[in-house]
Amino acid sequence: MIFCSECFKDSQIKEIIKSRKKSGKCTTCGCKNAYIYDPAIDDYLDGFLDDLINIYTAKSVLPKDYPSSDLHMLADELKNEWNIFNDNISSSDIHNITKCISPRLYKESQELFEEPIGIKEKYDKDELYELSMLKGKTWEDFVKSIKYQNRFHTQIIDLKKLETYLSYLRKNYPKGTKMFRGRLCSDNKGYKKTEMGAPPFEHAKEGRANSLGITRLYVADSENTCIHEIRAGAFDIVSIGTFKLKKEISVIDFKQINSFSPFSSDNFNYLEYLINKPILKKIDNEMSKNVKGNDNALDYVPTQFLCDFIATMEYTTGEKFHGVEYSSTLYPEGYNMAIFDPDLFNCINVKTYQINRLEYEYK
Ligand SMILES: [Zn+2]
Repeated sequence: MIFCSECFKDSQIKEIIKSRKKSGKCTTCGCKNAYIYDPAIDDYLDGFLDDLINIYTAKSVLPKDYPSSDLHMLADELKNEWNIFNDNISSSDIHNITKCISPRLYKESQELFEEPIGIKEKYDKDELYELSMLKGKTWEDFVKSIKYQNRFHTQIIDLKKLETYLSYLRKNYPKGTKMFRGRLCSDNKGYKKTEMGAPPFEHAKEGRANSLGITRLYVADSENTCIHEIRAGAFDIVSIGTFKLKKEISVIDFKQINSFSPFSSDNFNYLEYLINKPILKKIDNEMSKNVKGNDNALDYVPTQFLCDFIATMEYTTGEKFHGVEYSSTLYPEGYNMAIFDPDLFNCINVKTYQINRLEYEYK
């Protein structure tokens, strides 16, 4: 079999195959002019997946009471949990590619490739306490504790582990990047540039990324996202400010939780990551959850906790993260950013629009 960079979703594996610049026809996905890997000749990926595959245990070796609903074939794990392969690659092709990439491991531990597999540590209390950032507790337990028991000094979450996983989600923006911010207007005149920034602290209401009294600048990737985010209605007048970034910044991009490559950093702990992945998914959901204006303000506490923690994180000595980025709930094609220091952006112009028509989607 021959496979190619396009058979993979994982950015690191794609890059490695592309960097060898060997083109040809892929017999797996059918791509005609692709960067290919021919296991009959190439062996530079040999062993690449071994450490990852070795975190699993074959069914025949797992405890007898291991839940059968949590047993999967390796090919499905690599596709679904690790996002390594493209959606159009079948499980049997993944099985064959994996065997080709890991010939030595296949010889030594064939059962991991041919039997259903599981993670032994997932159902061991002591192991979970060590590996999970919530020390074996659920995200719901954590949310309950910071809402109703101890908001500022919770000891449920292991902040060192949280920091490690969040740091994989770094995204940089160059100086000059343009973002947008919208305001509903009370008359036809619209707002001036000086009125488009973040509110002063005495007027800062609580939001997804800030507690009451803390000023943060919320911006969006497009005018369209802004109009949805401010929940503009038909015939409303809205002002949209264009904001220009004054210097290069780094933010934590929650959208990457399900797509970052585990191979992009040295010493990545595959087992610990897999144990913590359900918590990371909950964090992602929490960031893009729809909280209506009149809902309980306590619903923002978990995301405010995360954002305040990120504001303390450094990506290089002395350089702290500047904000967070997350999907828009009201306009799924778009995304939002909450910037910790509102002075990092300058409002360079304002356009005022009237909303003519709304489109509803319903079920
Ligand atoms: Zn291919």
